[in-house]
Order: sequence, then C-alpha cells, then structure tokens
Amino acid sequence: MAKSLIFLADGMADHNLDQLGGKTPLEAASTPAMDSIAANGCCGTFLTLPEGLPTSSDVANMSVLGFYPEKNYPGRGPIEAVSQGVELAPDDVAWRCNLVTISPDGIMEDYSAGHIDNEVSRQLIDDLQQEFGCSALTFINGVSYRNLLVLHGKEFSDKVNYHKPDSSHGSHISDLQWTPADDSHEAAFTVKFLNDLFKRTAEFLAKHPLNKGKSSPASHIWPWSPGHKPALTPFSERYSGKTGAIISAVDVIKGLGKCAEMDVIEVPGATGYIDTNYAGKAEAAIKALQKHDFIYLHVEAIDECSHEGNLELKLKAIEDFDAKIVAPVLAACKDMDINFAVMPDHPVPIELRKHTRTPVPVAIMGPAVGTDEIKTYSENLAPQGTLGFMKGDEIMKLLMGLK
Ligand SMILES: [Zn+2]
Repeated sequence: MAKSLIFLADGMADHNLDQLGGKTPLEAASTPAMDSIAANGCCGTFLTLPEGLPTSSDVANMSVLGFYPEKNYPGRGPIEAVSQGVELAPDDVAWRCNLVTISPDGIMEDYSAGHIDNEVSRQLIDDLQQEFGCSALTFINGVSYRNLLVLHGKEFSDKVNYHKPDSSHGSHISDLQWTPADDSHEAAFTVKFLNDLFKRTAEFLAKHPLNKGKSSPASHIWPWSPGHKPALTPFSERYSGKTGAIISAVDVIKGLGKCAEMDVIEVPGATGYIDTNYAGKAEAAIKALQKHDFIYLHVEAIDECSHEGNLELKLKAIEDFDAKIVAPVLAACKDMDINFAVMPDHPVPIELRKHTRTPVPVAIMGPAVGTDEIKTYSENLAPQGTLGFMKGDEIMKLLMGLK
C-alpha cells in the first residue's frame, strides 16, 4: 500500500487581487512543484472550518487529519497543554491565556502585549502564579504571550463563551465578556470566577515594575478556548494500524499530533516564520517516509505573512514553500509509490488579515487518484477538478486507501 504525505501551507489560500492583475497570490507566485502535483494528479476543494467552530488553525488542521472537530475539538487550551507536557486531571479545565494590552478606557489594543519578550512574560506569569496560584488555579508559562491557565475542580466548566483576542482588536471589553454557554451552575460559577480573576490580576499587573513605561504593557490576562483533557482516537487506531508523523514549528500543531499519538518530529531551527529551516524540514520528511505510512508536513510562514498583510512577503513565502519544501521532497521520492497532497488549512485573504471558512484548494497525485484536466494548482481552478468538494475524513481515507 502506498505511503502518503500532505504538504500543508498554513493560510495560503487568498482572493483574486487587483494589484496582481486579478490573480491570487498562489496564481501569481512561481510554483512549478505544486503545479506538477495538479498536472500529474487531480484537484478539488476541502472544507476545513465547519460552521459553529472557531476559525482557528487547530480546528482546520484537525479537519485535514480527518479528526472531525465538530465532535472532537477539545479547545486550544488543552491542545497546547498536551504540547507542553502538562498533565491534566479529569476535572481540570485548561485555557489558553494571553497576556494582552487593554487601554485605560477599556479598548483591546494588542492581543500579544507587543509580542511580549519571553523572559518578561515568564517573570510575569511566575509572579501571577505566586500571587494567585492555589488549589483552584495554576498559571503556566508558554512562549511569549501564549500562556496557559488551568482551573482545577468539579465546580468549573468549559461551557463558557469567549472572544478570541486576536479577532477582538479595537473592541471595548464590555463587548468581550465571558458568558455561560449553558445554564449549569458550573458555567455561571466559572464566568463569575474568571471576571473576578480578570479584575484582580489587572490590579496586580498595573503595579508590576516590568510593565512600567511600556507602550504595550501586559495589562491583563485573557483566558480563551477552554477544554478538558483531550481524548482523540490515536492515529493508528483511527487508520487501520497505519502510523503517522507530524513535522511543524507550531506548538498547537505539534500538540494535535501528540493528542493523536503521532510521531512528533522536532526539527532544529524550525521557527514558524520565513526564516525557518526549510531544508531541515524537507529532509526530516524524506527520512520519516522510511519509517511511517503518513507524513504531515506543516509550514506556518505563509500564514504569518498573511496576518501581517504583507503581499510581497506572502508571495516570497509561497515561492519558498514550493522551491524549498515541495520540490526537494518530490525530487527525493521520484521513483517511489507515494501519494502527495498539497493544501492550505484555511485561507487568510491578505485584505482581511484573518482566517475565513472558504473551502481550500487541494491537489493530489499518486496511486490513490488518476489525472484530470487541471494543470496548475490554484483557488480558481481547483473547484473544477474531478475530486470535487470534500469534507470530513474523505482526504485521509483516500490517501490511506480506506475509501
Ligand atoms: Zn492556520
């Protein structure tokens, strides 16, 4: 049975742009390797962000891997906790907890507290833990503004509506409040507890010496995307004993891999940005193909450039992905019996600078598919391909020969 590899270009899909003569960035960029997958295989589209779930990368990547986030999404907090090796008890509710900047008149100014320095963030979270940590709660350090808050005990619920801080820029906190998502005592109690903690930690942070004189001080904590310990079916169990590996620079993608008991391969110098170690990631993927049936090769850089709204950088990141990731892996596996798929997890249209739910373009070549008329890989052509519109675990089942 053929092995399979997905090239996952985070945030690559976009809209037709006037400044590119009506083309999308993917169409305007030179991408011979991705085009060769379309030319020698089939195209289609895939729904990664079902309605009712956050438009976040963890949901989208779960979809690509066929893990049905509609049923199984544990929340960003628990996925990152797993990624960091935090052991969650059955009653724990893990929250992603940003350090954010909120202006004195209550406007969300920066979801990242000025991309707060790691050391400053570490110290602030340590001090918050010292001051507020107790049998009911623990603050846990992550990277920069990306920290965790764990609430301990049966009295807490994860059924709480929240606002994503990176989608809340410019809003007043009175419009961003946590609210109960069901009518349980626990949800109401959790909301009350969070509001109280939010106020008390803000008073503490306002007086903290590390915030003095900062233009984007870490003025508040912002807990979001809560959930309990994840219970994903292990990859091998899900896919008839086949084994899978994930290569990514990003905690939340690696966390997803750990939740599914996949082999999470660390690549030195993988940064999640355009300075990432492309060659190292391509080599790691080629090597992993010897050992595993399935490789998920995730590259974050294009998403970051898209969120920045930097078109020139997005074009460069797409060309780098094609030349430094897709091309060398295809070349190294030229005579092997492997299914290759290329796709983004979701669009990040450069004009919107945020994720959208539009189904993503997919190209697949290999023994699992034939060929169709589509010769280049693009958002505009993929919907005309013979793979058609796909969702759920259709891509994974196709790649794994389980259709
Ligand atoms: Zn993404």
